[in-house]
Amino acid sequence: MDDGTPYFISVEEALTLCNNTPPMLRVEHVSLDDAHNRVLATTVVSTVNDPPFDNSSMDGFACQHQPDATYPLTLTIKGIQAATGEHTAPSIGPGEAVRIMTGAPMPPGADAILPIERCDVLNEREVSLLEQPKPHFVRKEGENLRKNESNLPRGTHLTPSRVGLCATMGHATLPVYQRLNIAIVSTGDELKPPGDALKHGEIYESNSYGLAGLVTWAGHNPIRFPSVSDSLEHLRATLNEAAATCDVILTSGGVSMGEFDYVRRLMEEEGEIHFWRMKIRPGSPPLFGTWAGTPLFGLPGNPVSSHVVFRMLVAPYLRAAMGTDGPQEWRIRARLCDPVKSTKDCLTLRRVTLVSTDEGMMAYQPKHQGSGNLDSLATAHGLTLLQPGQSGEKGTWIDVLVL
Ligand code: AMP
Ligand code: MG
Repeated sequence: MDDGTPYFISVEEALTLCNNTPPMLRVEHVSLDDAHNRVLATTVVSTVNDPPFDNSSMDGFACQHQPDATYPLTLTIKGIQAATGEHTAPSIGPGEAVRIMTGAPMPPGADAILPIERCDVLNEREVSLLEQPKPHFVRKEGENLRKNESNLPRGTHLTPSRVGLCATMGHATLPVYQRLNIAIVSTGDELKPPGDALKHGEIYESNSYGLAGLVTWAGHNPIRFPSVSDSLEHLRATLNEAAATCDVILTSGGVSMGEFDYVRRLMEEEGEIHFWRMKIRPGSPPLFGTWAGTPLFGLPGNPVSSHVVFRMLVAPYLRAAMGTDGPQEWRIRARLCDPVKSTKDCLTLRRVTLVSTDEGMMAYQPKHQGSGNLDSLATAHGLTLLQPGQSGEKGTWIDVLVL
């Protein structure tokens, strides 16, 4: 291509170009049950103070904090307070105590708790406190979050604890971005569905299944199309259908230099290409552009390559579109315990297994690293993030993306 289309650019440059053509977002309101792994479309504020009232964090006795008293100290039991909406205990004064359960509202007058293990109940009317009761066992109204406050801004990725927090804040439904429908179109005459008999020269189609898993992991809907033969007509018809029904298109295969790399040819002739090839190993052939106005990632055909390019380009693009930081892999430091082949000009992602030791995380490369070897990815814990030109010598500390 000599028409000025960006060619063989860094992963960062590629991502910037992709982000210029975001997918269309829609907002919907979903119940908390459906909110897991979604992204908040607006900031959510608390409808209540959390906790809504002063309460006990222990099963024990509520009483007044008396710094100068000596222990054991016998107090009169005035009643019992369970974790219920009703106040069953009277207010208390010095020398008095109320049996209290975890989460129960503090009786008026009480400001400290002694856990039951440190109390000796003498009879129905008296309890002996073996040590000083503690004010810090009282959970104060609003100490976690105040009404109208928020720590869940737009773009928050709803993890299980955050969904729980939304419930704590009093929300039954949440405004979230609709999941994007992401078309997955694999291409190649040699591809057969798993389960069919293979003729010589054929292989099982695997990319669409792996990519569908990644799309689901990213929080969106994978729409797997039957794989497309290496024919311009078939590919054109499938891309038209994908563009009409989906928000983003992922193709796999057909973007290299080969005679039958029709994705690239069709995108060149009838679509729009924003860049082709990026400095990443494995996975350098991808292209990005639009087909009938729909963002399209042309991912490489080699199974490891398509997976790696999804993680380094498609997933960050989807997160950026929603202004969210999750779901996202952890990046850690690890020491190479095997030499790893790096490259001069590409970000190099080799598959490593990780072992946690007293000296830190150790990274091994037990499998051969062909980009067609999906087993090397399936058995790996992480991918090396070797920057262009960075040494992959044994003993080097490097960044690793944990899968
Ligand atoms: P291509 O980019 O189309 O030349 O494909 C590169 C390599 O990946 C070839 O060995 C293909 O057979 C293989 N390949 C392409 N698509 C898939 C797929 N969907 N599943 C498994 N292997 C594939
Ligand atoms: Mg092919």
